[in-house]
Amino acid sequence: MKISFKNIAKRFSGLEVIKDFSRDIDDGELVALVGPSGCGKSTLLHMVAGLETASGGSILADGQPIRGAHPERMLMFQENALYPWLTLAQNVALALEFQKKDKQQAHRQAVEWLAKVNLKGFEDYFPHQVSGGMRQRAALARAFITHPKALLLDEPFGALDALTRMTLQDALRQLIREAGPTVLLVTHDVDEALFLADRILVFSPRPATVLKEFNLSQHEKSHDLSEFSAMRREILSLLGINTEADAADAPQALDAVRSLDEEEEAAVA
Ligand code: ADP
Ligand code: MG
Repeated sequence: MKISFKNIAKRFSGLEVIKDFSRDIDDGELVALVGPSGCGKSTLLHMVAGLETASGGSILADGQPIRGAHPERMLMFQENALYPWLTLAQNVALALEFQKKDKQQAHRQAVEWLAKVNLKGFEDYFPHQVSGGMRQRAALARAFITHPKALLLDEPFGALDALTRMTLQDALRQLIREAGPTVLLVTHDVDEALFLADRILVFSPRPATVLKEFNLSQHEKSHDLSEFSAMRREILSLLGINTEADAADAPQALDAVRSLDEEEEAAVA
């Protein structure tokens, strides 16, 4: 699915969140969105999911204006939204049952998808009986089982420890290779963006505009990101993080973060 943002603006009453954002996301492309907290990344995903409307401009999915939610455009977020009273298999099957698929067939497919994310043998476990990483694996299976054309991932692994996160990134990459959806990935983790993305958009503080765009589609990638160290440094520095050995102006970066938080509080008050 091709997603086109045309001069998108978004305001919440007085608060200007996104300002004149235009980009085309190609069919099958994975674009990572990184930027300071509160700059409007989730809002952008919500608009593609059809849960929010833009204040100005338009978003097209395969040339059609987005009007409301559709299972073709699947949102997945950090707090896994598995139902605690359903087993992993029942949680995954539910995505198909919502689409009026036969219950037994849905269960069979759920078992297959759980195997793909390395959860064979855990079909009948309840979410609280497995680790956070395993819950997110199940959430991935549930996101992919309906073959969405666009996946909107909002810090999907943000709550996981670094090692678990990397194994989940591998699982996600494998699923993407097989299924080929267009993916918008919001992440705080610059290494995650470097590892997974074909393209990275770095946003400014609110109102969000693109500070810089990085193209990585030519690279074959592993978790050894050493060849991207210059790019990594540049992205961190765009985000106000000091990467010099002599972190003499680190307090400045902290101040930038703090002032954004204060602004946020003021906006809420
Ligand atoms: P990010 O995901 O980049 O951290 P968000 O998109 O969640 O940021 O939010 C951007 C700004 O918009 C924040 O200041 C947030 O408080 C505000 N915001 C988000 N959703 C709403 C809403 N439904 N109503 C009012 N303000 C909102
Ligand atoms: Mg967010």
